[in-house]
Amino acid sequence: MDMVALIEKKRDGKVLSEEEIKQLIEAYTKGSIPDYQMSAWLMAVYIRGMTEEEVTALTLAMMHSGDQLDLSSIKGIKVDKHSTGGVGDTTSLILGPLVASLGLPVAKMSGRGLGHTGGTIDKLEAIPGFHVDLSEEDFKEQVNRDGLAIIGQTGEITPADKKIYALRDVTGTVGSLPLIAASIMSKKLAAGSDAICLDVKVGSGAFMKTSEEAEKLAETMVAIGHRAGRRTMAVISDMSQPLGRAIGNALEVEEAIETLQGRGPDDLTELVLTLASQMLLMGEKAKDLSQARSMLIEQLKNGQAYASFKTFVKDQGGIAELCDSYHQLIKVKEKRDVLSPKAGFIMSMDAEHIGLQAMHLGAGRAKKEEKIDPYVGLVLHRKIGDWVNVGDRLCTIYSNHHEENIETIEEEILASLSIGPELRVPALIHGVVGDAFSGKTSKV
Ligand code: URA
Ligand code: CA
Repeated sequence: MDMVALIEKKRDGKVLSEEEIKQLIEAYTKGSIPDYQMSAWLMAVYIRGMTEEEVTALTLAMMHSGDQLDLSSIKGIKVDKHSTGGVGDTTSLILGPLVASLGLPVAKMSGRGLGHTGGTIDKLEAIPGFHVDLSEEDFKEQVNRDGLAIIGQTGEITPADKKIYALRDVTGTVGSLPLIAASIMSKKLAAGSDAICLDVKVGSGAFMKTSEEAEKLAETMVAIGHRAGRRTMAVISDMSQPLGRAIGNALEVEEAIETLQGRGPDDLTELVLTLASQMLLMGEKAKDLSQARSMLIEQLKNGQAYASFKTFVKDQGGIAELCDSYHQLIKVKEKRDVLSPKAGFIMSMDAEHIGLQAMHLGAGRAKKEEKIDPYVGLVLHRKIGDWVNVGDRLCTIYSNHHEENIETIEEEILASLSIGPELRVPALIHGVVGDAFSGKTSKV
């Protein structure tokens, strides 16, 4: 393989063949292409883009770079859900037990948080005793028995993505649509589910800041899923403000527990119902979206969704009894209210900037190796479209006095909000790409 020729081909806007992409990814994964050449190629992709055929070839090559989970011993249609990353997004903690309580098996591999976005594994670990390092056998057995298990990423899944992502991170090539699509879909395909429900975020807290970009990313990922022989669909949802009210690991567990009992914030509850309805359809547990929605609302009301969460917590070593009084666990050195300096409607929020403040408090990590503090974070008392008077509480900061300067955090939060005369409420669901039955279910 002539790497210089492949860099030049992409640089000049030409289309690489499936075989060329496959060889390139194989060679880079085993270390026979130096980072400087791969960086040049990634930058060429960033600038020139890729065709649907190229991005599919890239995804499949990355998926084949490591192990793939074989979930065939789990009965039923396995549906996975994936979010492209947002702030305060607690949906996985709620969706898993909710759909499992209706007999849809969920065998999920989740990640940790990085930068302004949180990760499901970090949130679950805020439950005392909870662990995610199950063996593959125990993982499948638990799904067959109780309908739900969540594990962290195993070392052998998509090593190509790990290497490429680390390189993108330091070469200004993270924000490339085909590279994001291939990175996400290679992991989802390797994780072995039969069907994939994507939650593509759009807005100030998302990778994709505009509806057009989010739609393009959703279409690309859905097309990759279909070409790879999986049922795939995407919901495009709002990330122009954090989801729900809580941002921070234990605070989001508490919010998930509330939502599982039908007392959650409206936006979080609505997104959960939207995604879970699609998942039930994909898994053939409901005949249409309205039937799915009624079934789900019933599970939130009758306690079954919450019961399924507690079984799941107990299965993975967590102390399930603590869930009923979970808020008592959240003890921090200081809770400081951020008060509104003026009257008006909340007109906008910079969700990414708010997510970064939670990270500075210790709820997230700037670098992969950093430790997090499960109890710190932010609770929003007002969201876009709400009216505030001077001195009303906008948000509460939960701090354990790590390295952050709490006054600076307060100022940055105020700077992330605009308060003014106009009432604007962003739509929660911006669109749907594909449908629950689009795509085959025979794998490649
Ligand atoms: N999430 C991923 O897993 N990869 C990307 O490239 C972006 C978001
Ligand atoms: Ca939240």
